Amino acid sequence: MGTPKRETGKAKQKDAGQARETAAEPSALEANFIQNIINEDFKTNKYNGRVHTRFPPEPNGYLHIGHAKSICLNFGLAARNGGLCNLRFDDTNPAREEVEYVDSIKEDVRWLGFDWGDRMFYASDYFDRLYDFAVELIKKGKAYVCDLSAEEIKEYRGTLTEPGKESPYRNRSVEENLDLFERMKNGEFPDGKRVLRAKIDMSSPNLNMRDPVIYRILRATHHRTGDKWLIYPMYDYAHPVSDSLEGITHSICTLEFEDHRPLYDWFLDTLGIYRSQQIEFARLNLTYTVMSKRKLRMLVEEGIVSGWDDPRMPTISGLRRRGYTPEAIRDFCERIGVAKSNSIVDIAMLEHCIRDDLNLRVPRVMAVLRPLKLIIDNYPEGQVEELEAEYNPENPALGSRKLPFTRELYIEQEDFCENPPKKYFRLSPGQEVRLKNAYIIRCQGLVKDEKTGEVLEVHCSYDPETRSGSAASSRKVKGTLHWVSASHAVPAEVRLYEHLFLKENPDEEKDFKSCLNPDSLTRLTSCLLERSLAGAEPGSRFQFLRNGYFCVDTVDSTKSRLVFNRIVPLKDTWAKIQKANK
Ligand code: ATP
Ligand code: MG
Repeated sequence: MGTPKRETGKAKQKDAGQARETAAEPSALEANFIQNIINEDFKTNKYNGRVHTRFPPEPNGYLHIGHAKSICLNFGLAARNGGLCNLRFDDTNPAREEVEYVDSIKEDVRWLGFDWGDRMFYASDYFDRLYDFAVELIKKGKAYVCDLSAEEIKEYRGTLTEPGKESPYRNRSVEENLDLFERMKNGEFPDGKRVLRAKIDMSSPNLNMRDPVIYRILRATHHRTGDKWLIYPMYDYAHPVSDSLEGITHSICTLEFEDHRPLYDWFLDTLGIYRSQQIEFARLNLTYTVMSKRKLRMLVEEGIVSGWDDPRMPTISGLRRRGYTPEAIRDFCERIGVAKSNSIVDIAMLEHCIRDDLNLRVPRVMAVLRPLKLIIDNYPEGQVEELEAEYNPENPALGSRKLPFTRELYIEQEDFCENPPKKYFRLSPGQEVRLKNAYIIRCQGLVKDEKTGEVLEVHCSYDPETRSGSAASSRKVKGTLHWVSASHAVPAEVRLYEHLFLKENPDEEKDFKSCLNPDSLTRLTSCLLERSLAGAEPGSRFQFLRNGYFCVDTVDSTKSRLVFNRIVPLKDTWAKIQKANK
């Protein structure tokens, strides 16, 4: 895991597109090994000073925070080096619902702050050329049509310790191969009956080089090419050729593809076309999170979450709905850095990044999540005082609002205790606390439900001399509580989240769903907010004093029924870990 290079308050790269101009010091991303390769390529003039990257998502699911790392890396490197980055959909595997995924991917990349200009491509744009190149490989004696079944191909392939066996169809003549390949294209054979394979080396120590399949027969309607094609190229073949056709200089992918690099190079060298350079980096893994699209899709399809944008999902759309900002996600991607070996990043670091971003940016307001009525017996009935309160003392630019103070208030249930333990600095019989931005009060009694023992009301007196900001307000009390006025409070639902999984690494479990956290969502339906939050816009963010950072839900919230998501609580475990390590 990379060590964070920045601390709160240092110059931050707010505008990803302008990184070169605004970055005050090299960040983890800027000083990474890929940048070193690029610097070296500049020196040797390998690509005539060009840097051209691409982000190549497969439109078979929504993007997640791991993709964000790849997006920041690819677009970031291009921006920093005066280059370009393409968005390319790797749509070689026709599947249903792809259009929905394509749209969501475009939205997410844009939201993260990146721009592909007029360079949005699809691997399917190249199907004709990929076909022609395959014909060329056949003509060069470098590809053949094979009739072995999928199981047989697997069997013939050998293992890491045993060499493979050559297919009996390996030595078909060029003419026969050309004829069969064309007939594959024309639909003369059923699905899976024949494949086109590269003719490389069945005894190669690298399994990827043992005559890999490059085309298969598949009758499936493609979201862009419809029913035009009955054969589809395999990723390992389509990817290098697409990179080459787009003039990509640095083709950045995750470590699993390291063993595929010789094949990547083989296709381009054998075809004699422009050679892009594949560079591998470690994928992002996060604690308490699964990142594979297959697993995320299961959570969606089995209704374990409400959708791809469920605020508990590690998807970009889930994080966005939860209230994460693009700045926080980009900052996170910088801090984690780029490495050559896999590791798991503590999710607390992501949470640290959003706190760091929101700390100064958002208003701090009062919201009572689990209300308990508090009555100030010596406060005149019907009186309303409008108390001035700054939105964010650390950022005066956010201004202030008036807080209505009345005889009947609500405080948090957990801020009152009838029989307090030692060092309990909140409210208890006979004790004093300050109400934030208002007065010091003393608890004089309580009303309980006779049957259940539940505390229904807390009765207090207030000291009129102690209004916040007045001379006597400097009197010290140990606790300060947030509160809302009963007659002015705005009702709301608040959703609290915990990690979706109970285990740090759910992928290690036999069934990742066996460690789902049953308490990952808590819905509090009778919360009360201060008056200024009435009509809060979907997507707007706040700090609720003492309770964390919150965002108005963009799906379920309405003017008359506000719904908030908690982004993160205030307690920063990551900052604590960092401090302890110093
Ligand atoms: P998954 O395993 O989640 O299905 P994938 O690699 O198949 O992911 P793609 O849509 O092919 O998903 O990924 C697009 C790009 O994003 C690829 O270049 C891939 O290397 C990169 N990427 C995917 N997951 C991660 C991750 N966890 N960390 C960093 N980069 C990632
Ligand atoms: Mg993939």
